[in-house]
Amino acid sequence: MTKTIQLSTKTPEETQAVGRSLGAGARPGDIFLLTGPLGAGKTCLTQGIAKGLGVEGYVRSPTFVIMTRHHGRLTLHHVDLYRMAGPEEAWDLGLDEQLSGDGICVVEWADRAAELFPGSSLWVDLAYRGDEDSDVDRRTLSFSGGQPHLRAVLEELSAAYPIDNRLELEKDV
Ligand code: ADP
Ligand code: MG
Repeated sequence: MTKTIQLSTKTPEETQAVGRSLGAGARPGDIFLLTGPLGAGKTCLTQGIAKGLGVEGYVRSPTFVIMTRHHGRLTLHHVDLYRMAGPEEAWDLGLDEQLSGDGICVVEWADRAAELFPGSSLWVDLAYRGDEDSDVDRRTLSFSGGQPHLRAVLEELSAAYPIDNRLELEKDV
């Protein structure tokens, strides 16, 4: 397994901007597997990826329809497995067609069907940073796996959105 790359965002706009860079750098067949609790920012990141792919219009979470398709520089398949009981049910969706095509797949709640996805996929875990004293809504994004061209983008992003340790220092002042 590759090294995990982490970054931190302070606002939904920053999370979208991270997505936009990933979308701009994406190549045919890239698969983004998103995990993390409700409200962590999976759809927010996907909206950025869509913008980076040149998709026009607003990308909503496809929770009720499971899968939506958007057209940009490449086709974006946006999947939400929140309602899936397990991999068998997800397999029945016929996801393999999207996963092996030359579009881009973004899968929210991908951990519900982890074994369906190729080993070259990029896993993205979003977590609440949990600094209760602050009114800044931080999220930590952790990336593992993925193709070299996306990891190159991520190395740059992790420098632009570093995990901020100053919070600890501020508390001591
Ligand atoms: P999910 O798809 O993981 O359930 P959403 O992207 O739909 O989550 O919702 C994330 C919510 O958190 C949005 O209301 C967004 O405005 C808010 N938010 C606050 N701070 C951030 C941040 N740093 N990154 C992403 N979303 C954030
Ligand atoms: Mg969502």
